[in-house]
Amino acid sequence: MCGIVGHIGCKASQRSREVVLGGLARLEYRGYDSAGIALASDEGLYVRRAVGKLVNLVEEVDADSPADAYAGIGHTRWATHGRPTVANAHPHTSPDGRFTLVHNGIIENADTLRAALVAYGETFASETDTEVVVHLLARAYDEAAPASYTGAVAGLSGTDEEVARRLVVAMRAVTAQLHGTFTLLVVSNQSPNVIVAARRSSPLVVGLGEGENFLGSDVLAFVEHTNRAVEVDQDEVVVVSATGVTVIDPAGNPVEREAYE
Ligand code: GLU
Repeated sequence: MCGIVGHIGCKASQRSREVVLGGLARLEYRGYDSAGIALASDEGLYVRRAVGKLVNLVEEVDADSPADAYAGIGHTRWATHGRPTVANAHPHTSPDGRFTLVHNGIIENADTLRAALVAYGETFASETDTEVVVHLLARAYDEAAPASYTGAVAGLSGTDEEVARRLVVAMRAVTAQLHGTFTLLVVSNQSPNVIVAARRSSPLVVGLGEGENFLGSDVLAFVEHTNRAVEVDQDEVVVVSATGVTVIDPAGNPVEREAYE
């Protein structure tokens, strides 16, 4: 299990690329075999992955990434399922390109889940356990009635709020099928204004900024930007926007969570 970083700001902030790459650099000490990033902007999703040192990813991102991204997720991978290749590096993207996610941990029932998806005609681009999660998420998103999560999603309205609600329903439906350990962060081309995350037996912390928020598998991922954080507990889902953090408990209800320093 290696490193995860996330950042979301307002449209004017446009610094997700720097924050995510900086956070990955802070987590480098943990060791990894490949790295990747997804950036969300009004133009959609930009995803790049590279094998080896983080500098390889940085070179690619410097060459062609959108400068105006205001949400992003990043990953350093320590392979458990599949070789250390670009195809196996995270983020992993749904076949239709709508969702991309990073994962720390191990999905123990990935083979069973993959076999069921193959029976539906789905094809896979990697050897990882993680890729099944994003396939399941895309399906669950289409089945999700946003009204089945009617709790708050702080800081969001209109389409962004609807996307967030659907992602909460989808994330809860998918994680209920997973055996194993995970920290998951997902962004979508449906809205660059929301990151949804979940965890089980793998760490996830949300960092609170001013008009921006952070996610990390470790506070080191964002400690240079803020010293205020919120814990996410076992089997909780969290919706993070530029100005709001909503933690949803295993029963599906939003909970108040005190920040700590
Ligand atoms: N099991 C996943 C993989 O092999 C995630 C590994 C990790 O935590 O870095 O891609």
